[in-house]
Amino acid sequence: AEIEQALLEGQLALYYQPKINMRTGEFFGVEALIRWIHPEKGLIPPLEFLPTIEGTPLEIQVGEWVISSAIAQMKIWNSIDLDLEVSVNISSHHLQSPNFIKFISNKLAENSDINPEKLQLEILESSVLGDLAVISDTLRACQETLGVNIALDDFGTGYSSLTHMRNLPTNTIKIDQSFVRDVLDDPSDYVIVNGVIGLAESFERKVIAEGVESTEHGLILLMMGCELAQGYEIAKPLPANDIYKWSTNQVANEKWLKWGREKHTELQSKIALFELTCSWWKNH
Ligand code: C2E
Ligand code: MG
Ligand code: MG
Repeated sequence: AEIEQALLEGQLALYYQPKINMRTGEFFGVEALIRWIHPEKGLIPPLEFLPTIEGTPLEIQVGEWVISSAIAQMKIWNSIDLDLEVSVNISSHHLQSPNFIKFISNKLAENSDINPEKLQLEILESSVLGDLAVISDTLRACQETLGVNIALDDFGTGYSSLTHMRNLPTNTIKIDQSFVRDVLDDPSDYVIVNGVIGLAESFERKVIAEGVESTEHGLILLMMGCELAQGYEIAKPLPANDIYKWSTNQVANEKWLKWGREKHTELQSKIALFELTCSWWKNH
């Protein structure tokens, strides 16, 4: 009841986390992340209240509010020439609700100045538990009829990641931050991240890493062939009004750009990787 009240009273807000191309420094998009700005308790993060409404009609109402707000924000950014890809997180229950496609289709029709390709739906890999054939049809309709993009979020954490990669029509794979976090310390995580990047390439999907928290994390990802990233090293999720300022003030990471400018043979890449991991181990 409190969450429903919060929705009605405008206490829900979307924060936006920048996504960049580390090789070129280009700021190309943001992920919308919901927050509850509670009048007494302050900012409540999503995982503290979304699970309460999981599987209920209110979850769908909140999901629809997220889509509408993100589209409204895209219009504001477009009006100041900020042409960003905006991704929104979609719950499994919402995705499988009967009105899902119709709602997005109506929203896009009402806002015909928005390029649908710039809207991305993030589907949680671990929650794609329903009927895979039905979900696959829904995602295909979103791509082909509506023209929106699909990303598979938290990739690698689900029960059947490879089945999802193979069967779901997705444009982008998001490597889960739990693998990225320890990629410099744990050889198993390194192998998993490297494998996911290779798979994404073979399946012709874009790949983006989440949870990039240091220059070294970004460098090792670049060395493995993953250019797109989001994480605290780049920016934390910001209120919508701060994004424009961030975009004009951001300083690209010189080490990432340098790696991006240079040409590397396979041997040079391997040596650079070896040097990077050795110095990381020494410093930690
Ligand atoms: P997610 O979609 O995987 O979003 C990434 C989460 O990682 C966000 O947490 C973000 O703030 C956090 N993060 C980003 N960079 C870093 C980093 O460098 N280090 C660390 N430690 N964390 C980082 P947040 O905002 O708390 O959201 C948590 C989850 O809640 C999201 O995970 C998503 O699954 C869900 N969520 C958020 N907003 C919505 C929404 O509007 N609808 C639905 N259905 N789910 C949402
Ligand atoms: Mg996400
Ligand atoms: Mg994620």
